[in-house]
Amino acid sequence: MAIPTTLVWFRQDLRLEDNPALCHAASQGAVLPIYILDDDNSGEWSMGEASRWWLHHSLMQLNKSLDGGLKLFKGDPIEILPQLLESTGIRTVVWNRCYEPWRTARDTQLKHHLQQLDIELTSFNAQLLWEPWQVLKNDGTPYRVFTPYYRKGCLQQPPPRLPLGKPDKLLIANGDMLESGNRQLDLLPTVNWYSSIAKTWQPGEAGAAERLSRFLQKALNHYKSGRDIPDNAGTSRLSPHLHFGEISPNQIWYAALQASEGKPAGDNLDCFLSELGWREFSYYLLYHFPELPGQNFQPKFDQFPWRDDPQALDAWQQGRTGIPIVDAGMRELWQTGYMHNRVRMIAGSLLVKNLLLHWRHGANWFWDCLVDADLASNSASWQWVAGSGADAAPYFRIFNPVTQGQKFDPDGLY
Ligand code: FAD
Repeated sequence: MAIPTTLVWFRQDLRLEDNPALCHAASQGAVLPIYILDDDNSGEWSMGEASRWWLHHSLMQLNKSLDGGLKLFKGDPIEILPQLLESTGIRTVVWNRCYEPWRTARDTQLKHHLQQLDIELTSFNAQLLWEPWQVLKNDGTPYRVFTPYYRKGCLQQPPPRLPLGKPDKLLIANGDMLESGNRQLDLLPTVNWYSSIAKTWQPGEAGAAERLSRFLQKALNHYKSGRDIPDNAGTSRLSPHLHFGEISPNQIWYAALQASEGKPAGDNLDCFLSELGWREFSYYLLYHFPELPGQNFQPKFDQFPWRDDPQALDAWQQGRTGIPIVDAGMRELWQTGYMHNRVRMIAGSLLVKNLLLHWRHGANWFWDCLVDADLASNSASWQWVAGSGADAAPYFRIFNPVTQGQKFDPDGLY
């Protein structure tokens, strides 16, 4: 008798460990793993250049872990998936949920289509500790401020799901009949501008596990003070790994708890977990307020008289503002695809509050240059910096970039 086969559509979950969709499929029989590069539905949120570099390497790593069985496609999943199901005769599909508005719109459409074809589809949560619809105020409306959302909302829910291991047995279906499944995704640009990014990172599940273990050993115990010093390796640098789902927030959450076991419940652990909470809050905002990437969360900002100054924008992008900590940050971004959080806040503040350029210019630049570019965190954070967001610093609170530099980088080491 033929072994039942499930099609596993990998998306923002490029890992084998703690992957609920993959585990479920593997427990049912064979799996046919696929990835679809979807530049058709993403519209203006099509992946930036640095993210494409990352994705290229992450998919290579995933393919290795799947013994070369990952099939790659490029195009509109709404067309590709039904064709694939027809040509293989597979009747069951699984995926882990995504939360970007363009992805949820596409997935809803696809779900209806697959239902009509009588295909069995199951989706799972692999990306968030708490589903955005799970956490609401007593009156049934979403929270708009981080602290009550996290402390009264999330932490009062049942604890996050425990991470799963890798599937006990993984039988990869032979997908040789899928000729189109060896598409070149052409993710790397023809000009190699990314060599210094390549020296900084190790995309993929193994790279993520290594970052986590180094962070737990070396930095978690002084995270609260260390996280603000940009020349110090005081944070985890897990953000791109989390974005592409090479590691889950559940794995990080429980690994941090375990690493702190037996030690007095400390501010460092609480502070680190609450940063994962900020990530959740960003996804929560994007889910409940899907216009967040393009529109002011607080409409009173719609009247703000932004300036138009391409030269100032160029200088900011190229790290030529004359403010040392800002210029260092913009160059870190260009060289490594990453910028320290404290410096993101200072550089962002300079753009919107001193240069008076719209936060969307900053968000777009980050979108293209960051290896961790994430629609939820980038949009929520830029609006927070601008003062137009949820729970934001009020518009009249302006970081002084010089004193910020003196405070957080007194010797100019960064
Ligand atoms: P750690 O300090 O080790 O924190 C652990 C994890 O918690 C991070 O990996 C990240 O997933 C999450 N986290 C930490 N701080 C925040 C935060 N303020 N908001 C949301 N999640 C957080 N983060 C992105 O992942 N993608 C973005 O596109 C992005 N754009 C930003 C733009 C601006 C203007 C600002 C001010 C912040 C932005 N952030 C973004 C948030 C934050 O700067 C990064 O998540 C953090 O610097 C990643 O470094 P880390 O992994 O070492 O963080």
